[in-house]
Amino acid sequence: MLLRAVLAAAAALVAAVAAQEARCGRQAGNIACANSQCCSYLGATNGFAATSLVGQALTAVDPRCGRQGGGAVCPKGLCCSSLGGASGGGSNARCGPQGGNASCGNGLCCSFLGFCGQTEVHCGLQCQLLFGRCGLGPLPPPAPVGSFPTPDPAKAARYITGCNKGGVFALTFDDGPSVNIGLILDILKRNNIKATFFINGKNRGDLNVAKDKANLKRAFDEGHQIGSHTLSHIDISTTNETLLFPQMKVNDDLIKAVIGKRPVYMRPPFGSVNQRALTALGTWGYKVIGWNLDSKDFEHIGKPDFIQLGEDNYQADLLRISAVLPKTSLMTLQHDYVPEDSQAGGWVQHVIDKFKNLGYKFVTAGECLGDSPANWYRD
Ligand SMILES: [Zn+2]
Repeated sequence: MLLRAVLAAAAALVAAVAAQEARCGRQAGNIACANSQCCSYLGATNGFAATSLVGQALTAVDPRCGRQGGGAVCPKGLCCSSLGGASGGGSNARCGPQGGNASCGNGLCCSFLGFCGQTEVHCGLQCQLLFGRCGLGPLPPPAPVGSFPTPDPAKAARYITGCNKGGVFALTFDDGPSVNIGLILDILKRNNIKATFFINGKNRGDLNVAKDKANLKRAFDEGHQIGSHTLSHIDISTTNETLLFPQMKVNDDLIKAVIGKRPVYMRPPFGSVNQRALTALGTWGYKVIGWNLDSKDFEHIGKPDFIQLGEDNYQADLLRISAVLPKTSLMTLQHDYVPEDSQAGGWVQHVIDKFKNLGYKFVTAGECLGDSPANWYRD
């Protein structure tokens, strides 16, 4: 795919610049990490998880550890199983194609390495939804084929990562409503800026809970755009339509119960999407939104150099997309669970000040695409 080739070339450039956290894997055009480093499930060479990519082919490796692995210690954050594999903890039961197509029981997730468990490695990016739970929340029941419009390749959505006009900056916040959304809404209000929130009905927040409903209502009432981020933050590239449809439909129902409308805009969790999902989502009327600027705020929680780390990631992305400031439009990714009042000060206010001074106009995702507000929602 052309997009992949372009991303791979760009990611190689980024890797050279940001040696500490070079991008890799599916988020970076399927490039492999250098120097035997591991590619994390978030697509950074921080040695967190255990994916290795050779060319275009995904080769999942489970680094050996413990007695079976010559006494080796697992990479950061991983547990050494009784089988001597650094699979991120869990039950050691096998699942998925690696485990004779077995499913995990007891609400466990099937990792991309084919192990059942419930850590973020099991339940996050590349979690195999066909063989267990994925994400933090419970899964809605599958929708039988015939109960939703049959995906039509002619209606496939495009994965949008930038805006249609120059000089605009779209602040977007994923994974909420969660702990920090009130503070973010205060900052946006103070600066008279409209942003976009991609919402999970059941993830860090829960749209059956009054507090989370109130925060979502406030975001909508204050003029921010509301999009969907699936119900329970699943990797939509590892599923099928009977499981994806209820993830969208149930999330839309929960959002509609609060704001009176269903969002048309959606963002795939982890930015992970494939042609099958794009075809289904396009057929069902969704616009699929990515980003072109990512501070990776969630990796910097609690670090004293939070602002500088975010700046470094921004610089790498700006280089990757050959941005000309303030001409190049920017679609950014933030998370509303990342503390804004961290030791390092406020990242969101920092971004607003910096890019306002550069001459950017802050807009919602819809405005960034030149799309009339009438098209942002449906009944
Ligand atoms: Zn997310």
